[in-house]
Amino acid sequence: QPQIVLISGCSSGISGPQLCSLPSVVATMRDLGKKEPLEAAAGDALGKTLIVAQLDVCSDESVAQCLSHIQGGQVDVLVKNAGIGLVGPLEGLSLATMQNVFDTNFFRAIRLVQAVLPGMKRRRQGHIVVLSSVMGLQGVMFNDVYAASKFALEGFFESLSIQLRQFNIFISLVEPGPVVTDFKDKLLAQAASSEFPGTDPDTLGYLQDLYLPASRELFHSVVQSPWDVAQVIAKVISSSRPPLRKQTNSRYHPLVALKTLDPSGSLCLPRCVWPR
Ligand code: NAD
Repeated sequence: QPQIVLISGCSSGISGPQLCSLPSVVATMRDLGKKEPLEAAAGDALGKTLIVAQLDVCSDESVAQCLSHIQGGQVDVLVKNAGIGLVGPLEGLSLATMQNVFDTNFFRAIRLVQAVLPGMKRRRQGHIVVLSSVMGLQGVMFNDVYAASKFALEGFFESLSIQLRQFNIFISLVEPGPVVTDFKDKLLAQAASSEFPGTDPDTLGYLQDLYLPASRELFHSVVQSPWDVAQVIAKVISSSRPPLRKQTNSRYHPLVALKTLDPSGSLCLPRCVWPR
């Protein structure tokens, strides 16, 4: 019997049609009004190896309802993909905006895991795949809150994985660099048009004149396609000994390695976005 794979945040991006070709997938999204492209791409698989269901990771009720549609509530592989970003200077961000990032990226991810974990433990089998980021390993200017939410995921799931190995349950943190989805475009456009009230002109200058252009350039030079990342996820899912961490973009290996090799932190500062 194929493993049931539940994926969150399937209306766009990395977890679109690419991942939904796995043998038995429950592809979920907050807004079922956006299911058409996924259903069209699924073709014959729709209703057979793929079902599309509503799931807002920020609603307990929605989580419970979604699991009630799955036979026996059995989820063998949970792919926590849903996530949001945030770019901007700290002084110009409200606490509510920052909390929403942590709620979606961190606390609600944990809530979803809480819901599927008892079943996995009973069956002594399971795999939880979490979309982290290279920003879960390396801080990036003006992405302070987003990076913190991904660092939180890394620390949380690294800790949890130790206990879960006793239950034959694996955790995999997938760490992409930039990926061509709406994610970054939406973020950069938002940051470019926001006023960030209360922020001093020097900081705003760094954001508008240095960070945003450099970020767009970097984004085009090292970017991966959602297909590349989905393939890595599919490979991680089918692995008999799934890794705890999997970076998807080898161009980021040196940057991440600097973290342990350079305790001063100064080699990590990208010269292009931070004048010295
Ligand atoms: P995306 O914006 O295309 O997809 C994110 C999905 O999450 C969307 O379908 C969105 O509707 C969904 N989502 C957001 N809040 C939700 C909620 N409350 N309930 C259910 N769904 C919700 O972006 P993406 O690039 O496909 O991002 C997927 C994951 O990959 C995210 O966790 C992101 O942090 C991570 N990631 C993305 C990049 C990148 O450059 N795109 C890089 C590294 C990591």
